Amino acid sequence: MITTELSKIDNIIQNQREFFQTGKTKDVTFRIEKLKNLKQAIIEHEQSIVEALKADLHKPELETYLTEISVIKDIDYTIKHLQNWSKPKKAAVSWDFFSYSAKIYPEPLGVVLIIGPWNYPFQLIISPLIGAIAAGNCAIIKPSEIASHTSDVIAKIIAKHFDPAYLTVVEGGVEASQKLLAEKFDHIFFTGGIAVGKIIMAAAAKYLTPVTLELGGKSPCIVDTDINVEHTVRRITWGKFINAGQTCIAPDYLLVNKKIKKDLIDGLEKSLKEFYGENPVNSPDYARIISEKHFDRLVNFLKDGEVIIGGENQPSERYIAPTLIDNVSLDDSVMQEEIFGPILPVIEYTDIAEAIALINSRPKPLALYLFSQDKNLQKRVLQETSSGGVCINDTVMQVGVSSLPFGGVGDSGIGNYHGKASFDTFSHKKSVLQNSFWLDLKWRYAPYQGKLPFIKKLLG
Ligand code: NAD
Repeated sequence: MITTELSKIDNIIQNQREFFQTGKTKDVTFRIEKLKNLKQAIIEHEQSIVEALKADLHKPELETYLTEISVIKDIDYTIKHLQNWSKPKKAAVSWDFFSYSAKIYPEPLGVVLIIGPWNYPFQLIISPLIGAIAAGNCAIIKPSEIASHTSDVIAKIIAKHFDPAYLTVVEGGVEASQKLLAEKFDHIFFTGGIAVGKIIMAAAAKYLTPVTLELGGKSPCIVDTDINVEHTVRRITWGKFINAGQTCIAPDYLLVNKKIKKDLIDGLEKSLKEFYGENPVNSPDYARIISEKHFDRLVNFLKDGEVIIGGENQPSERYIAPTLIDNVSLDDSVMQEEIFGPILPVIEYTDIAEAIALINSRPKPLALYLFSQDKNLQKRVLQETSSGGVCINDTVMQVGVSSLPFGGVGDSGIGNYHGKASFDTFSHKKSVLQNSFWLDLKWRYAPYQGKLPFIKKLLG
């Protein structure tokens, strides 16, 4: 384990500030070269990444490629567009500014801090890091201590391939985080829970540091009658039970039209068998809960409502079977807290208005899912609800589209990233106005006498 002594944190930041001041990161060629290095480093360490995720989460190799190592695609996308994104963009000026020209220059912020969670512990560090590098920043990275094997691999990769005055990993838990938060950064990018998000924002406020908070919450999944049941159940099963439900945008609970509830539950039972066999504990394709503490929290939810599928668990393995719960009360803890595990409550509605009212009575979710081919219903749900993002007739796939900004709203987060949005998040847009010397009209200069009618005309 490469552990940075916490007492050296102020030193690391100072070194990065000095490196940033050299101006090297302002060169787009430098940034592209570093992105290429990052891609190469990931490819070189592919096997260690797979092994670390297996050790932390029993993550199947395919899921590691699909949801972690796939950040390589984001690197390619960023490299392809970076020259264009970094160019100053002309801004329009109105006719009364006819002798001026206006441009917007994206410029790097400086030294940024990236703090990550444990559930997609590699991707959720590297993905914002791509944006930080692309925009020309230096970065300090604090992976989650709870996914300790992945944290180690990230630390090794960065230490081996990058100058610490440019990119550094600080490993550790709350203490390391707090030590970092005591320092001044030019941006803090945090992915994690709402409670810690508030701590981050309070710490950032002290220095007026801007923050991006990628948080969680309860993402509803509405299922209407106008669907292809077979496709729907597969897409819900995949999005809910990938990584054993430990996904920030996993459907947290189902809101199902009463008329289709039985078909949907039967279908989900069938697709669970198709995915993970008769006994998912034996499936090589089903992950485990990250820690004993998280396992205990989830097992407690099994007391709520009535388990209709699954419910089995093994503490020694931190295994919880894919589980469906019926007859939950909205006051049950499973409907109060973000579940973040393989437990799926099913709530029925008779009219879509009930489902919408339930969603709107709660904090704005990170994701909202709707299964329906009914265009009017789609329009209504989009118009009457607010969420970080929406995916219609699928789950989780929205995260893979680089042209869609990813982030929450309200309690589910502040700011967004991915693709161009990542570049924007880590850039300051500097507005530059230029006048010329060929003319100097005197209408704005004192003495003002006699000029007011012209000003009034100008404003009118
Ligand atoms: P967490 O908030 O417990 O921890 C996140 C990071 O904060 C870790 O690196 C941790 O070391 C640090 N931290 C913990 N306590 C701290 C404190 N008191 N002060 C300073 N730093 C502290 O989150 P987690 O358990 O790792 O992740 C789960 C949560 O993250 C869920 O709520 C999930 O929805 C959310 N999440 C959101 C996204 C997203 O993209 N929006 C992605 C993944 C996870």
